[in-house]
Amino acid sequence: MPTTVPALVTEAAGKPLERSTIERRDPKPHDVVIDIAYAGICHSDIHQARDEWGGSEFPMVPGHEIAGTVSAVGPEVTRYSVGDRVGVGCFVDSCRECANCRAGEEQFCTRGEVQTYNGREYTGEQTFGGYSTQVVVDEGYVLRIPDGIELDVAAPLLCAGITLYTPLTHWGAGPGKKVAVIGMGGLGHVGVKIAHALGAEVTVLSQTLSKESDGKRLGADHYYATSDDETFTTLDSTFDLIVNTVSADLDVERYVALLALDGSMVNVGIPANSASIHAFSLANGRRSLSGSKIGGIRDTQAMLDFCAEHHIGAEVETITVDDVNTAYDRVVDSDVRYRFVIDTASF
Ligand code: NAP
Ligand code: ZN
Ligand code: ZN
Repeated sequence: MPTTVPALVTEAAGKPLERSTIERRDPKPHDVVIDIAYAGICHSDIHQARDEWGGSEFPMVPGHEIAGTVSAVGPEVTRYSVGDRVGVGCFVDSCRECANCRAGEEQFCTRGEVQTYNGREYTGEQTFGGYSTQVVVDEGYVLRIPDGIELDVAAPLLCAGITLYTPLTHWGAGPGKKVAVIGMGGLGHVGVKIAHALGAEVTVLSQTLSKESDGKRLGADHYYATSDDETFTTLDSTFDLIVNTVSADLDVERYVALLALDGSMVNVGIPANSASIHAFSLANGRRSLSGSKIGGIRDTQAMLDFCAEHHIGAEVETITVDDVNTAYDRVVDSDVRYRFVIDTASF
């Protein structure tokens, strides 16, 4: 018998999230039942709940930054026990057979990884995310949250953390490298902490200087306002790596000009519209423009362990389930310091 649990549900694109219930399956042999303590609000939740990328399926329960405690396990589970502190990120299954799955890059599963919400299990059932009190996930897609990180500040690491850890490590952020992060939001602020911990020289490129003192406290060496044209003159041809976390349309061309010789700009922000760039902007300086999407299970665990070792968690504002619709508007207005996290005790 499936279990009926409380959840925040939206019935159609842009409709408010409302208290309702959903069903969670009985644990299969390899399943872990997780009592969710906190769920982060990622801007991707908003893009999908408002169907800004197209193809959203309703009803929807968003939430792919999940932290909680194991409350039951299926009979063949070996990795987790009742009471363990665990997390779930953006996907809950993948084919496990394709080259990308075998390489530990399950987020690029060629069959299509099963998204934590707004997705379908391979059996065809709709998936529902973390704005709820419980979730049931195969143990191979569950992460261990190290003791050094509290669950509330750990939750956003499951998406924001891995989304920045992957490009920063893949493109070699470290001592002697100049790294810029565009956008001091949910992704960006965690990126500043991780890039600093990796030893890079970190610059924040934010619309204004309103968050400068926070940025420097979190590990930025420099902080510039992109509303000031002077910034683009000062920083021309400067960075080895730029990670763009902006959720809205951006003049990518302008930022690529800030890359040094052989520098790379990596888009992790996914606005609704396309951007364009002239080939000269990349040819000049042998620059690269690329993208990155979350990370595989192995790297997500490595990120959590790295964050625990360096005492990195998200800066969170804890809210109740009744605050979520207002929180969505505040995220869109860049009015969040720096990640909203839903306390599921408020269900
Ligand atoms: P967020 O908290 O809203 O942060 C985005 C930041 O972008 C804002 O804080 C703001 O920073 C800046 N920004 C917003 N509007 C802007 C504008 N019009 N012009 C310039 N800058 C602007 O969102 P998030 O949760 O970090 O997510 C950011 C994006 O990444 C979203 O599109 C999301 O869907 C995407 N995402 C991608 C992945 C992936 O795997 N690739 C994973 C998670 C999320 P300032 O106030 O500092 O300017
Ligand atoms: Zn996300
Ligand atoms: Zn696969």
